[in-house]
Amino acid sequence: QIECADLVKIFSTDEVEVQALQGLTLEVDQGELIAIVGASGSGKSTLLAILTGLEVPTAGRAIVAGHDLLTMTSAQRTQYRRHTVGFVWQQTSRNLLPYYTARQNIAMPLAIAGMPRAQRANRTEQLVELLGMGEFAGRRPAQLSGGQQQRVSIAVALANEPEVLFADEPTGELDDINSQLVLDALAAVNRELGVTILIVTHDEDVSAKVRRTVQIRDGRLSTEVHRSTETDEFGEQQHRSQEFVVLD
Ligand code: ATP
Ligand code: MG
Repeated sequence: QIECADLVKIFSTDEVEVQALQGLTLEVDQGELIAIVGASGSGKSTLLAILTGLEVPTAGRAIVAGHDLLTMTSAQRTQYRRHTVGFVWQQTSRNLLPYYTARQNIAMPLAIAGMPRAQRANRTEQLVELLGMGEFAGRRPAQLSGGQQQRVSIAVALANEPEVLFADEPTGELDDINSQLVLDALAAVNRELGVTILIVTHDEDVSAKVRRTVQIRDGRLSTEVHRSTETDEFGEQQHRSQEFVVLD
């Protein structure tokens, strides 16, 4: 569903050129939940900016759910951002409108997409239930904890039924308990709705809980870890993890 090959992104400012991505290759299947890790400056956010249609790649191949991000027109890009992908940023202030309640925040992208009021209310309630937000969906962001705000942000990102959800450090500003709740919410979304999810994270707990983690180094994929859980002959759960080195 996501296919990047030899992806290059160069940011040119007045004097310097930064090669943020230097030939990155990555494939993600439909329905996968994958974590992206890597040192600061390795190109993680740049990759998400490209995959969410915010930045145009310099060269290579990037296709998401059949949409070619290199050849797209700007009108197609707008449609793509509205309907094909959803995103959750680290700062909740980038995700939510402060003067609206959680419910109104979720309904907003639906209103923009022209959904009739009754249908809007249905879809909103469905998401409120899925993410367990019944208790606080009537409150504004300032009246919610960081973890609650991030769960609302996930619902907002999902409102228009995107095919892929991207999250850049969604637990970056949260304590352990709230990080766990947000991670559980993302896992539930992946499981219940089958949405493909890519999470950029520094959080080892997050990457330890997904089946596949890829590491980016200097704008390229460097290692992959695959994890699986099997039940052995004694009924005990055995966790296995296998590491693949892509780049030396
Ligand atoms: P962090 O973990 O700190 O968030 P990151 O892996 O997300 O880091 P990126 O934000 O993708 O890293 O940055 C990769 C490189 O590209 C860095 O050297 C950064 O300075 C540069 N860069 C990112 N965005 C821009 C931009 N808009 N203009 C110029 N350079 C940029
Ligand atoms: Mg970043």
